[in-house]
Amino acid sequence: MSSILVTGGAGYIGSHVARQLGERGERIVTLDNLSTGFRAAVLHGDLVVGDTGDAATVAQVLRDYGVDTVMHFAAHIIVPESVADPLKYYRNNTANTRTMLQCCVEAGVRHFVFSSTAAVYGIPASGVASEDTPTEPINPYGRSKLMSEWMLGDVAAATPLRYVALRYFNVAGADPGGRIGQSTPEATHLIKVACQHVIGKRDHVSIFGTDYDTPDGTGVRDYIHVEDLAAAHLNALDYLRAGGAPVTLNCGYGQGFSVREVLDCVASVAGRPLVIRTEPRRAGDPPMLVARAERIAKVLGWVPRHQDLRGIVASALAWERQLG
Ligand code: UDP
Repeated sequence: MSSILVTGGAGYIGSHVARQLGERGERIVTLDNLSTGFRAAVLHGDLVVGDTGDAATVAQVLRDYGVDTVMHFAAHIIVPESVADPLKYYRNNTANTRTMLQCCVEAGVRHFVFSSTAAVYGIPASGVASEDTPTEPINPYGRSKLMSEWMLGDVAAATPLRYVALRYFNVAGADPGGRIGQSTPEATHLIKVACQHVIGKRDHVSIFGTDYDTPDGTGVRDYIHVEDLAAAHLNALDYLRAGGAPVTLNCGYGQGFSVREVLDCVASVAGRPLVIRTEPRRAGDPPMLVARAERIAKVLGWVPRHQDLRGIVASALAWERQLG
């Protein structure tokens, strides 16, 4: 039986996908340098501690485990950090993806599932992006991922490798079984930060920008439960195994919530008001970014099951409480 290499499998999204793969009985191996991931998040299969930019290690893992499919999560993901330190992003996200792809081609890996991002769209005119919306990223994070998409497209055109690239919108929530969740203490993502505030790890939550051209002036995003996002990767695997052609798909629900709506929801779930500070806009943030989400349902047969902001927040808060 061939196996699946999960890069970044000790991180937030990778560990949820690896858990679902393991529960389904797939053979998996995780490659993670543990720079932001956690050994304890690897619930199935071996963990190889190493870097996706280290071609010798990658080649050896592909060979030793008879890898047929790579799911490539390992990346830096913080927009403002990418603005401050772009080369860090072009190395880890773009150059290391090139190394991964070269090793995959040399080893005859057939399937590649790639973690892309809605940040490739930049500021779509209506705030809603379909897969055909022009890609015009406005920050180095988005550009670092878009370059990887381009490489993937070119490699698939020149070799037998086939891929699914998933453009994630705003991922939040945690494993309903309470085993894994978003664990990075210095997280910057809204729902995580708000949950840290609820349990007393932060004394307030900041709203970055209240003067956007949106209904309440704060940024609007499409928040998706990590369990649904993870399930999309298993659908992508089945699709590739069935011979599906290379494809790039949005992964969101198609519903937008403002920062204020999210914080109201967190306060309601927590049962108490939050301490909120309003601050200027954050560098690199678009006003609104919501998915057109029909294509992934059609192409992969993806059925979201956790499409409720309250449920997303409740599971994120439960995990944060557990982390203590
Ligand atoms: N945001 C905020 N306060 C925070 C973190 C985020 O107001 O502490 C806003 C941010 O400006 C954006 C939205 O929440 O409008 C989502 O940001 P996040 O960092 O969660 O994800 P991103 O969309 O940048 O990937």
